[in-house]
Amino acid sequence: PICYLNGDYQPLDEACVPVLDRGFIFGDGVYEVIPVYAGKPFRLDHHLERLNDSLNNIYLANPLSDEQWTRIIQQVIMHNAEGDQSIYLQVTRGVAKRDHGFPGETRPTVFVMSNPFSAVDTKLLEEGVGAITLEDIRWQYCHIKSIALLPNILLRQQALNAGAAEAILLKADKVTEGAASNVFAVLDGKLVTPPKGECLLPGITRDLVVELADKHDIACEQRDISREELLHAAEIWITSSTREILPVTHLDGHPVGDGLPGPLWQKMYAIYQDHKNELRQA
Ligand code: PMP
Repeated sequence: PICYLNGDYQPLDEACVPVLDRGFIFGDGVYEVIPVYAGKPFRLDHHLERLNDSLNNIYLANPLSDEQWTRIIQQVIMHNAEGDQSIYLQVTRGVAKRDHGFPGETRPTVFVMSNPFSAVDTKLLEEGVGAITLEDIRWQYCHIKSIALLPNILLRQQALNAGAAEAILLKADKVTEGAASNVFAVLDGKLVTPPKGECLLPGITRDLVVELADKHDIACEQRDISREELLHAAEIWITSSTREILPVTHLDGHPVGDGLPGPLWQKMYAIYQDHKNELRQA
């Protein structure tokens, strides 16, 4: 695979970053993951806008214009597989002597790679996945898409160790999001997802689901979900760019609803796939 690093396109296994890069030393950087269907990046403008927000929130000037980002992403897509891909990009504060304070004149490190996008396993769509609830131990700025993911990694691994696919996080007994996904629940027949804010990442897939619900007259509320509500939800979904919309059919070992992917999930999943296919053919 061919990646982009600081102005050059090169084989991924030859790309190197100096050990004093602040991404390596401090986790001082931000990232995006963008699905690519039939060679076309999906909701690229939304991803570039979120990248810009993340950069602003860490006081790092965006090193590239949206046009430059678009061109680089297109080049990386072209250099790689024909099939669906997922673009990973990250920007760090660059290489500098190790010191917590921001360095003066350092050039940010810009890295873009592509991975094959593996379609979501049909077994997961037929049976759903398990999730466990865990205390949200992360920091106060979860709206920033930071590369420092140690808490998320520990939480996800705890879920995997329990035989589950995701950890659903609770802060003061309210759902925030998953370790690497956003959360929806069906409560009293209505779709509900926690409101955006500093407690969760504004997921591009989350926003699309809210948008598609609106377009198809599916009632959707953005409000807090209590632990109690989550435990009794008729349906629970997790959303992310790479996992799309997955039904959670077991929570903490108990079935969600009747323990099968629910009717509203079936409907939204079909709407989402149609939307993707329209883009493919556009
Ligand atoms: N929350 C967290 C913490 C995530 O890591 C992700 C996926 N990167 C999401 C939500 C989902 O965001 P998106 O739909 O933009 O992939």
